Amino acid sequence: MKRLLPFLLCTSPAFASPAFAEVPSVVTDIPPVGSLVAQVMGDLGAPMVLLDKGGDEHELALKPSQMGAISGAGLVVWVGEDLTHELGHALEAVDVPKLGLLAETQTQDYADGGVNPHAWLSPAVAKAWLGLIAARLSEIDPAHAATYAANAAQAQTQVDALDARLKAQLVGLKPFVTWHDAYGYFATSYALPYQGGLASGEAHDPGAASVAALQDRVAKGEVACLFPEAQHDPALLAATGAQMGPALDPVGSDLDPVPGAWATLMTRLADGIATCR
Ligand SMILES: [Zn+2]
Repeated sequence: MKRLLPFLLCTSPAFASPAFAEVPSVVTDIPPVGSLVAQVMGDLGAPMVLLDKGGDEHELALKPSQMGAISGAGLVVWVGEDLTHELGHALEAVDVPKLGLLAETQTQDYADGGVNPHAWLSPAVAKAWLGLIAARLSEIDPAHAATYAANAAQAQTQVDALDARLKAQLVGLKPFVTWHDAYGYFATSYALPYQGGLASGEAHDPGAASVAALQDRVAKGEVACLFPEAQHDPALLAATGAQMGPALDPVGSDLDPVPGAWATLMTRLADGIATCR
């Protein structure tokens, strides 16, 4: 019966009543994903986001009220297991519609072979995700399929405009490293001389050895700049000799999941990284 509904909605006006046109309540993991969903939903609804303000995207911890929101969701849109393990466990236990974005994405791997989950920092990926979100929402809420598709198309055009602006901005930069290895997709998108993160793999803080190694690379001229991160105390990095840039926030953890949040996140990152000259 479930499979027949879209067919009936398309062919029989009798079934195209508001009762069948319910906009799902959408739960998302992180602000940039919430932002992409908000763009696709437009005036139809607003998603909620699970990551706490100022939170680290790898340390999402679910409160009981959030577990309730997940089990009552009309759709959960999330990056995937490689970013938020705890949400993965929570989703295994509930029977709600889901969209795991990373599973549908051509991902980058870390040097150790693990999947780099920070794919929202690629404009090309963001455009693909807008399309996936519109398609999934349309399956659940076919009465608004045309609106979801039009909103996604408009948002993709806006991504292209921002992308062109950032391409022009991010030229002539010196080699840089960041706190953690989150910026591979961003760096690939703009052909940046990114030398990776100080904290490797799943580690949250750089070890003394990687700080010492950085000192060495700065002395040799292989690395010019170092960017700390908003979620972590940069004191550890004080004596490396690298030019210290502004703190980056790869997940826009202070942002609400409003339509403009993804562009704000990308613009801030670009403005920060563009200081490495
Ligand atoms: Zn990260």
